[in-house]
Amino acid sequence: MPELELIAAIEAALRRPGKRVLTGPGDDAAVVRAGGVAVTSVDTLAEGVHFTLATHSHADVGHKALAAALSDIAAMGAEPGEAYVALVLPPGASEQAALELVAGMDELAGEAGCAIVGGDVTGGPGLVVSVTVTGWADSEEQLVYRSGARPGDLLGATGALGGSECGRLLLDGLEAELAPDRRDELLARHRRPVPLIAAGKALAGAGATAMIDVSDGVATDAAHLAERSELEVSVRMADLALAPGVDVVAAAAGRDAAELGATGGEDYELLFTAAPGSRPTIEEAAAGAGASVAWIGEAASGSGLRLLDAAGQPVTLRGYEHLAG
Ligand SMILES: [Mg+2]
Repeated sequence: MPELELIAAIEAALRRPGKRVLTGPGDDAAVVRAGGVAVTSVDTLAEGVHFTLATHSHADVGHKALAAALSDIAAMGAEPGEAYVALVLPPGASEQAALELVAGMDELAGEAGCAIVGGDVTGGPGLVVSVTVTGWADSEEQLVYRSGARPGDLLGATGALGGSECGRLLLDGLEAELAPDRRDELLARHRRPVPLIAAGKALAGAGATAMIDVSDGVATDAAHLAERSELEVSVRMADLALAPGVDVVAAAAGRDAAELGATGGEDYELLFTAAPGSRPTIEEAAAGAGASVAWIGEAASGSGLRLLDAAGQPVTLRGYEHLAG
């Protein structure tokens, strides 16, 4: 199918954008009524680097590419706006595969209150999906940066960690004794991550001082907060909330469960700091947005990341330097 026809078919399959969009696909460019400040993030997934089609459907790939970009918008505390999608299709890619990919993305866009309003399709050597997402806020004061943590702040993490990495290990063929439902949950955490839009806005509104989404693993992302806030962040490994089944998969892989939870990427939970006095407000706001909070460490004057065991002694993680580097 010629590209122009495919683009027309994709446009026809997209849900109608909301009131903010003055004109979407079909003109030379999209026109959107702006909010106070624009928040923009790009995420690119490449076949063979970030996923393989042996373990991901085209709809999974579309979902995941948009989820990763929306998770960045969530981590700023912004309202999702519009998505712009660049698609590189390899030789032999069917029209149906491209439409499935876009449908997977459009379904998540609908759930997140985001509209896909522009994009481009071209041919290339492998499947690549690049998604640019805008978010909106009335003013900069509503947003939360990585740089806002203060000494004495507590470090919190939403939800449960390590699930996506366990899903990846299982998709790669690791055998582990899991109930079928548990296994499916872990696979879904890897293939269909959920960006925490409501929790991001709730945490921002409840006084989170710094925030980042957990894309590279808590250890690496906590180090980013420490660096940008110019202080030291400590993480108590024993306090990490691990996703159900992580213990079983870690044992099957011959790895420590807490270490897997601290280094596993693509969980797309939110990692944030808050003053100790905001703790009840934060917990209530997160619960109202359907997210649990584990308090896993704190910020102090100094620099860098400190990982602590249950006795408060420093821990080094296998493979962590590689991840952080
Ligand atoms: Mg991020």
